[in-house]
Amino acid sequence: MKLLITGGAGFIGSAVARRAIAEGLAVVNVDKLTYAANPANVAPVADSPRYAFEHADICDATAMARIFAEHDPDAVMHLAAESHVDRSIDWPGAFIQTNIVGTYVLLETARTHWRGLSGDRRGAFRFHHVSTDEVYGALGPEGLFTEATPYAPNSPYSASKAGSDHLARAWGETYGLPVLVTNCSNNYGPYHFPEKLIPVVILSALAGKPIPVYGRGENVRDWLFVEDHADALLTVLRRGRLGETYNIGGANEARNIDLVQILCRLLDEFRPADAPHERLITFVADRPGHDLRYAIDAGKIESELGWSPSVTLEQGLRLTVRWYLDNEAWWRPLLTREGVGDRLGLKA
Ligand code: NAD
Repeated sequence: MKLLITGGAGFIGSAVARRAIAEGLAVVNVDKLTYAANPANVAPVADSPRYAFEHADICDATAMARIFAEHDPDAVMHLAAESHVDRSIDWPGAFIQTNIVGTYVLLETARTHWRGLSGDRRGAFRFHHVSTDEVYGALGPEGLFTEATPYAPNSPYSASKAGSDHLARAWGETYGLPVLVTNCSNNYGPYHFPEKLIPVVILSALAGKPIPVYGRGENVRDWLFVEDHADALLTVLRRGRLGETYNIGGANEARNIDLVQILCRLLDEFRPADAPHERLITFVADRPGHDLRYAIDAGKIESELGWSPSVTLEQGLRLTVRWYLDNEAWWRPLLTREGVGDRLGLKA
């Protein structure tokens, strides 16, 4: 199978690209290389004869048409997006453009391509749209998001992702495009760009700088190791029922403050000379409209497709901290990228 991945130089897309190549698929990685991308994320597979890279913007219909014609993919996994909630508060326009208009362009390009396929290839074609549990809005202390939970996005980011989910669904219903949608909880793991909570905590602590925690750290998220997400995505791509949505989660709910404390304890273990790292925890102004709690019911993907995560939160965080300690050459250059280390998202 030749899989066209968008956003494959980002955090999750690169995990999918690495895994897909390891599993014997051919991969075409289409990426605009925004501030969030890093070609080093796909360095482990870049020399594979089954890997190709296309530097392009998904909003560029001409470029997309050329890439589909040249590479003739059997399936599309669409991950390219503006992905950082704080940036979406300050600069929502880029989120509307890439996440909504870009998804529209890609759906149209994929539809033309799919209609031109013959017989078995047409029947086997898939457009897999990758999304977030944030489209469901905020939960109170109880309950879980299921695939039937109504959409109620609260941030410009989640609203733009919700819009793109609706487009994907509509292209399935209206044009018969073979669409799959997945909505996943918060990912963490190796190659995570250092503006997101877990790498911010690890890298601040290593530098002896204050570890910023929004509000009182009481917001709850479900956390999924990125390699498990990549495995889930390839499982849905291969075996998901057409037109269905699958929620993907780690069954690992944690308050931000508890997560930060686990990370501090791991750092105490690996870097005892600087313990206790929790002395660096600093509460800062909360994010405007910060959703209190997200939690996923991942029962459907488990019962229908037999997928469940391979690591616990504690195991995944240990692997992640170890990876950042061993890969300074990966993260150090990213610290000078625009906006990294700045407090964004307070302009509301
Ligand atoms: P990321 O920001 O690390 O990577 C996004 C990639 O998309 C980057 O390589 C970037 O260059 C590329 N990109 C951005 N705009 C583009 C454009 N116009 N054309 C082509 N490429 C473009 O994001 P991520 O965390 O890997 O998330 C990937 C997908 O998964 C997103 O769709 C996101 O909404 C979704 N998601 C993320 C999480 C999470 O916790 N990170 C959870 C659930 C779902």
